[in-house]
Amino acid sequence: MTDDEREQKFKRKLNRERAARKEAERLLEQKSLELFHSLEKLEETNRSLDATVKAKTREAIEAKEAAEQASQAKSEFLATMSHEIRTPLNAVIGFTQLLLQSSTLSDRDRGFLGHMDVASSGLLALINDLLDLSRIEAGKLELETIDFELSCPIKNAIDLYTVKADEHGIQLEFINSLGSDIYVTGDPHRISQVVKNLVSNAIKFNSDGFVRVSLSGEATESTVKVKIECEDDGIGIPADRIDSLFDKFAQMDSSHTRKYGGSGLGLAICSELIELMEGNITVESTIQVGTKFTVGLELPLGRSPAQVTTDHIETSLRDLRVLLVEDNPVNQILASEILSDHHADVHIADNGLEAITAIEDNEYDVILMDLQMPKMGGLEATARIRAMGISTPIIALTANATNEDRESCKVAGMNRFLSKPFNLNELIGNIAELTKRSVTSHSQ
Ligand code: ADP
Repeated sequence: MTDDEREQKFKRKLNRERAARKEAERLLEQKSLELFHSLEKLEETNRSLDATVKAKTREAIEAKEAAEQASQAKSEFLATMSHEIRTPLNAVIGFTQLLLQSSTLSDRDRGFLGHMDVASSGLLALINDLLDLSRIEAGKLELETIDFELSCPIKNAIDLYTVKADEHGIQLEFINSLGSDIYVTGDPHRISQVVKNLVSNAIKFNSDGFVRVSLSGEATESTVKVKIECEDDGIGIPADRIDSLFDKFAQMDSSHTRKYGGSGLGLAICSELIELMEGNITVESTIQVGTKFTVGLELPLGRSPAQVTTDHIETSLRDLRVLLVEDNPVNQILASEILSDHHADVHIADNGLEAITAIEDNEYDVILMDLQMPKMGGLEATARIRAMGISTPIIALTANATNEDRESCKVAGMNRFLSKPFNLNELIGNIAELTKRSVTSHSQ
């Protein structure tokens, strides 16, 4: 090959390479442009996605707030209604209990009153269940943490059902393998509520058989692992119903409700309460053989507190000067009848302002204070009485039954809190205790 030919070949190669480079550049430019457009689109999509997410988040927050407001409104409504229902119910239950104590009743009238007592107590239990459920749903149910003797709330709950068990021809037993000197910390009223519900069902769904409640457990260094069993040989529960047994309003069917009554709330509340106590509840049942509920709890060991016995208290409040601050005329009569029966000397003030005037002029041993009253409510009156340097014991007597109410009473300077309808013995027991009168218990 001549020099010329070699040069020509080289030039052709250069031209080919130049053309290839140009093509590559053109492709690169085209791809860069495509990439640029894709990025633009991606950014655009991103922006609109961001806006959608923000809008959806705002909607979700608004929906959550609306739901919370609705739930709050429902809780408030239930609390108000429960207050409104408890107030007249207090009169019904209180007067029935008072009348039942009369020695001049005919057997027929005593029977009628007995029915009234059962019906009104049932109504109260239902209202309490509804209120509990709404508190649980609103996350507002708080447990007490007090020291108590472990078997006490269980025995008290069972004792309430001895008459009913007799009526059903049922042998009601309590087997306590832990004895009566184990003190734990927790909420005795809620434990009692669970046992009451289990025992009440075990009796209701049984006849001429047995209901056996057993308490057992073992102590660790700082806690007691408690097992409470409630066993019956009643109608049993079908296997396909067991799973939904702890759901709200779970009853077998409407004919069942008509035959046995009940709201279907009891076991749902029991399981929620036990969950709050970080325990567990299980059930084993065989149709026509019987049912056994088992509750497991682990409670911290507690100290033996100074005990107040509220059952069957017989006490004399003779000449005790009691100031009753209450605006409702029926409740005025009820409370003063109860106290006069125990020979106390009762003065009535219609509201907080009248109470303060009465206290300026007289000396009292104890003050019973309603919360909601015209002119001046119980909380303000108590705060003023305490600001006057008067330390007379004050017991709140109120149909407001929330934990916040209890707390407000404590903060205002009240010594005790009894929610209406109050147990008659509980009222007398608390007065006697606060005024250091002797209290004789005939329980057990
Ligand atoms: P209620 O008793 O008010 O209907 P509960 O939640 O306490 O509501 O009980 C739900 C249902 O579980 C009862 O209606 C009944 O069908 C069934 N049940 C509960 N305890 C027993 C029992 N010991 N024996 C048979 N059935 C029971």
